[in-house]
Amino acid sequence: MLLDLGIFGNPPVINGYAIVSGSEAVVVDAGPASTAQRYVQEARERLGGARLKAVLLTHVHVDHAGGTSYFTGIPDAPKAYVHRRGAPHLVDPSRLNSASRATLGDIMDYWGDALPVPQEHVVGVDDGFELGVGSEAVQLIYMPGHASHSAAWYVKDEGTLFIGDSAGMMFFGEGGFLWPASPPPFFMEDYRRSIERVRELKLRNICFPHFGCTSRPYAVLEESLSVYERASELVSRLCAEGRLSVAAVMEDLGYGRQELDSYLEKFLLVNLRGLPGYSKCAGP
Ligand SMILES: [Zn+2]
Repeated sequence: MLLDLGIFGNPPVINGYAIVSGSEAVVVDAGPASTAQRYVQEARERLGGARLKAVLLTHVHVDHAGGTSYFTGIPDAPKAYVHRRGAPHLVDPSRLNSASRATLGDIMDYWGDALPVPQEHVVGVDDGFELGVGSEAVQLIYMPGHASHSAAWYVKDEGTLFIGDSAGMMFFGEGGFLWPASPPPFFMEDYRRSIERVRELKLRNICFPHFGCTSRPYAVLEESLSVYERASELVSRLCAEGRLSVAAVMEDLGYGRQELDSYLEKFLLVNLRGLPGYSKCAGP
């Protein structure tokens, strides 16, 4: 059973989810260090008596995994599962933290540096790995693109895909707007192939960490492909004209004018910088 734990952080950082089956539970992503203490508390209350056996990470970026050690540190010590390529950065996040600070600037002040997770609590796994949660099976689907180690977690029987940042972001929930999740380094070809691949799955829901679930999975994947293509072209054109802004991209994507605070505007802008079209801004 999918449990939507709601959005954590003010300003909003991440949507928490848990999967509960019988007496066992897992959470998907731990959120950043700045919100983790409250998130752990609330997750445990909402799980009732179910034993939290694992944190399933979609990737190790600081807003998804920075607070993992708060989960692995609770008395029954759940393990953190992540794609093998991300595991070393959980144990030693120093390079991740400095690279994140360089890319994100003061957005990092809201999220905090990722905290190291003791090696014995980290399990690096490969594509196809399955974890039993009560009577459910949850499978890791490798989805490089957003990062080279990005993955989704797929609850087969329910047809629910926790997609991480691999198909962009949905602000805020069904009926909101889709935006590329592509801070540099971003790998557009891998991203496309990853989406093609999950379109073959039997999906009923896709749940985004930023933010909420949709019950129109195939339409949203289609829209995601289109938004990345169009956003990249727009960024290329606006960069060449020297007038790149979130508002201009937003409007040309057909989302009209949105009320954005400065945090959200910075966050949206950072996510355009990895698109291939951005090379026109960075060029001579
Ligand atoms: Zn990410």
